[in-house]
Amino acid sequence: MDEDVAALAALLRQARRAVVFTGAGMSTESGIPDFRSPGGIWTKMMPVQFQDYIADPQARRLSWQRRFEMEDTWNAVQPNAGHHAVAELVKRGVVSHVITQNIDNLHHASGVPADRVIELHGNTSYAKCLTCEARAEIADIRRHFAREGDAPDCKFCGGILKTATISFGQAMPDAEMARAEAAALAADLCLVMGSSLVVYPAAGFPVLAKKAGARLAILNREETPQDPYADLVIHGEIGPILTAAVKAL
Ligand code: NAD
Repeated sequence: MDEDVAALAALLRQARRAVVFTGAGMSTESGIPDFRSPGGIWTKMMPVQFQDYIADPQARRLSWQRRFEMEDTWNAVQPNAGHHAVAELVKRGVVSHVITQNIDNLHHASGVPADRVIELHGNTSYAKCLTCEARAEIADIRRHFAREGDAPDCKFCGGILKTATISFGQAMPDAEMARAEAAALAADLCLVMGSSLVVYPAAGFPVLAKKAGARLAILNREETPQDPYADLVIHGEIGPILTAAVKAL
């Protein structure tokens, strides 16, 4: 591990505008299962497709019930050592942006400023109107649901409310995609952590950064399809390794 930490610290030391790219593995040390863990929430139930959510009130009810069942979990989870180390790298000006596939709000919660976090798959800690994009709070929707058996419509335009996440079948968010592309193209280092790098288009950003001249480092428990293109591959746990690398800077 010492050699790995030293190599990662060396790459970070040389970086002036690194981009961190994170997936579900970033948050397993906070107690949120990743996509592939046996028994994980995502493996137990078929996800509600976006088209069904729009077309079918029953699908919306199912989706909200599942979300409310997770509420205590989402409210209790805390950033882990890895999130804090990333926040420290942003604070020191080593990392310009954190591009994340996670919806758990933990990069924000660890103190990374909102304009430095790019959430490709949205955020489950609040809801948005699908028509006017007004924000709505989960607690308000939950109270309404308990009373009426349905989520409320948007109080501004009457549109359908949905958690502010990107569902299967839903278009990727244009603004976030553009910000992620700009950050990847400008990066001198792309540090991937906790992603299997199989979910596209998100997994295209590390390759894009690499093609544009950035170095590519991958810190993940398991192999990924982009390991052969990386300048540094570490198979291990994010929290202890990144914490040690930041300490060594
Ligand atoms: P993934 O589940 O496909 O891959 C996670 C990777 O992280 C795996 O290769 C695993 O070996 C690795 N990993 C797990 N814990 C680790 C640790 N402590 N240290 C190092 N590596 C670790 O995740 P993905 O690539 O993000 O794709 C899954 C999709 O599901 C994403 O689109 C994401 O939006 C969504 N999702 C989000 C969350 C969340 O918000 N926390 C959780 C599960 C799934």
